[in-house]
Amino acid sequence: MDLPEGLRRLWGLLNQRAPTYLVGGCLRDSLLGQTPQDYDLATALPPEQVTEAAAGLHVVPTGIRYGTVTVHTPLPVEVTTLRSDGRYSDRRHPDAVAFTDRVEADLARRDFTVNAMALGYDGNLTDPFGGRRDLRARVIRAVGDPAERFLEDPLRIWRAVRFLSQLEDRTGRAWHLEGATSAAITRHRAETCEVSEERVRDELLRLLMCRSRAGLAAAVESRLLFIAIPELAALHGFAQRHPQHDSDVLVHTLRVVGEVEATPVLRLAALLHDVAKPECVLWLDGVTHFYGHDRLGAKMAEGILRRLRLPGEVVDRVVGLVSNHMFPWTEAGPKGYRRLRAEVGVDGLRELVALHVADVRGSRAAVARWELPAAVAARVEEVLAEPPEVIRLAVNGRDIMAAFGLQPGPEVGRLLAAAQEWVWEDPARNEHQTIVEHLRPLVREDV
Ligand code: ATP
Ligand code: MG
Repeated sequence: MDLPEGLRRLWGLLNQRAPTYLVGGCLRDSLLGQTPQDYDLATALPPEQVTEAAAGLHVVPTGIRYGTVTVHTPLPVEVTTLRSDGRYSDRRHPDAVAFTDRVEADLARRDFTVNAMALGYDGNLTDPFGGRRDLRARVIRAVGDPAERFLEDPLRIWRAVRFLSQLEDRTGRAWHLEGATSAAITRHRAETCEVSEERVRDELLRLLMCRSRAGLAAAVESRLLFIAIPELAALHGFAQRHPQHDSDVLVHTLRVVGEVEATPVLRLAALLHDVAKPECVLWLDGVTHFYGHDRLGAKMAEGILRRLRLPGEVVDRVVGLVSNHMFPWTEAGPKGYRRLRAEVGVDGLRELVALHVADVRGSRAAVARWELPAAVAARVEEVLAEPPEVIRLAVNGRDIMAAFGLQPGPEVGRLLAAAQEWVWEDPARNEHQTIVEHLRPLVREDV
């Protein structure tokens, strides 16, 4: 096996003192012929002795209570002392961890068979649960009784669907949930409420970033997705009678997620862009319309993302995209484009175009290869090329108060907004005196 030099050296150092194994995702990925993202070692040495053995290297005690230290070799390697877990009464941390020198006991506390193998320094593979068999068959199977294991730590339910997509991405072939594991996911999905929002968020993001849609499909089929985001449940089976759509809102949504580039902001925006459609439906002449679902959807998305504890910057960007995803790209003139750029920013405008293309492609099979019309692309580039100072208003609130003898208040804001609209229409107007003369007849004397 092709291992980084620093890892090899550390492994040898530890193994001289006590049996030390390569475990977890790196072993799984190596057996799949993939380059691992990070490496984990499991050792019979207690953490203090790991630190001692790694003298001279940078060692960080990342989870000393559970016997984990991270050694920078310089590549960070997590070294965990072999342990068996006791009961999990808080649904996350075992009440007691007992260090052990039996690697099988350590493997028994791991989540899935493909993650529960250990490679000894001598090259011997310990595989008590049939991990290699499941790797070959591309099966995600819980170690032991799936229901019990999911109740111990319900995050494993999310991990199962995440691995479904991630392993398909890595191997290029479909993976499956073993029957009892799949049944336990459906049965115990609501237990994921007990898991902290942050842990669910991290798994959901990792799932969304995958190319494969298998994990999301499984999260829909088991209704796990609707435990994390109940607002999406109403989209499931919600028919759209419209010549531009050939699927229900949720199927469309998942297609858009798959179409759009894999960044957290774009994937989240795709997932939530139509969340308000069921609230906004209006039937006219046998056709469904969803007036206002963009603005209401933005409000709903904000609530959902805050609840999932996404960083404020991500929330703002996603909300801006959802709110503007119905922008009339072909009808809008320069003023509309400038207003849009002012609202979402340069990066936001590029993201919004990407979301729009994915949204159209995801609406009907017939337009799966749709491209942005050249005229729209040209208008986007034009507004992006415009230096910001061209439309940055040449007057501020103080100028307006001075020009019209006003006190601070809503009238000043109203006049500023009117001035901005007028300048967006034609940037040549963006000059102090020109703006003041334009505003003069608009000033309300009575406020
Ligand atoms: P990735 O490719 O995402 O890093 P991974 O399998 O390495 O996948 P990690 O979260 O890095 O996932 O965990 C390392 C190993 O620790 C897993 O392979 C698994 O054996 C074990 N593990 C991690 N989280 C859990 C959990 N919640 N329950 C049981 N075992 C777990
Ligand atoms: Mg890992």
